[in-house]
Amino acid sequence: MTEYPRVVVDLDKIRKNVKVLTKKCRESQIDVVGITKVFSGNIEVAKILVEGGVKYLGDSRVENLKKYESLDVPKVMIRLPMSSQIKEVVKHVDISLNSEISTIALLNEEAGKQYRVHRIILMLELGDLREGILPEDVESYMDQISSMQNIKLEGIGVNLTCYGGIIPSFDNLEQLEKIANLIEKKYDLKLNIISGGNSSSLDLLWKKKMPPKINNLRLGEALIFGRGTAYGKNLEGCFYDSVKLEVEIIELKEKESYPVGEIGLNAFGKKPVFIDRGKRKRAILAIGKQDVDQSNLEAMDEKLIILGASSDHLVLDVTDSKREYKVGDIVEFKLDYGSLLQLTTSPYVKKVFN
Ligand SMILES: *Cc1c(COP(=O)(O)O)cnc(C)c1O
Repeated sequence: MTEYPRVVVDLDKIRKNVKVLTKKCRESQIDVVGITKVFSGNIEVAKILVEGGVKYLGDSRVENLKKYESLDVPKVMIRLPMSSQIKEVVKHVDISLNSEISTIALLNEEAGKQYRVHRIILMLELGDLREGILPEDVESYMDQISSMQNIKLEGIGVNLTCYGGIIPSFDNLEQLEKIANLIEKKYDLKLNIISGGNSSSLDLLWKKKMPPKINNLRLGEALIFGRGTAYGKNLEGCFYDSVKLEVEIIELKEKESYPVGEIGLNAFGKKPVFIDRGKRKRAILAIGKQDVDQSNLEAMDEKLIILGASSDHLVLDVTDSKREYKVGDIVEFKLDYGSLLQLTTSPYVKKVFN
């Protein structure tokens, strides 16, 4: 018996997206770090990314990267390491993104204890205001890193769009290029990785506006959803529907659309607002806020209206649909990055790979 709710993943579509995008990147001498965080470290997906042509696997959590030990590509930790997790990071991660000298010093010390060299990418703050050192601090960081025997500076990088919504441009990535040139010249070394951001940097490739020294991108969302995330534009030759959600109807009744009685606070401390459409056919589905924020869902049947959700119930208005829904029927939803991230994290949601 099939179990619901479930996220259904079409691995062939993801493999195709990975092939298209790694090829596009390769034409500009760019290697891809395949980012798996949206699947909570699923090895099936990680394998597909490697088969499709990514050169590295990246994730924000060491717990996820640990699961990829059998896959023969370098593992990149894309969230800054926690001081409390240094041992694990040195043991399971080949390259970590860093922006704090105290953390890098701990990595150096621990790498010495484990007889390893730990590779780092130094992150730069170029406007998005999430992680990264300020450009004026590069030399003081470099002076200190240069003296650490068990740390190898693999490269430098930037992250844009995720927090501040700043769009990658020739100008802000050229700044990264200039910093790379400065480091290579002053410290007489070669940086292997100049990492120019995430899926939001892809549009620059199509526009042919990527500064030439950028040789690495960290791609998650684009590989799964076939989307360049700076403008939410669909990317040529990719699939946009590699994942979907299936949920079961547990109640279906005609009811008033306006609640009866005095309206107070709902389960989440908010006063709900309702539109009175008279009597409507309503379905309750067995999924809730514990699994996903319903505002990130979109029913494939365009006539369905998502009315709201509580912890474990999703309420839909199905009156306008051509389909005659009944209890036990399955309703399908399109997903976006936010809903997929939440759903794959919920232990109550089954994950099926086709
Ligand atoms: C999440 C993340 C990425 C991947 O972003 P996508 O938009 O999914 O491509 C890359 N780098 C860092 C540092 C991230 O946190």
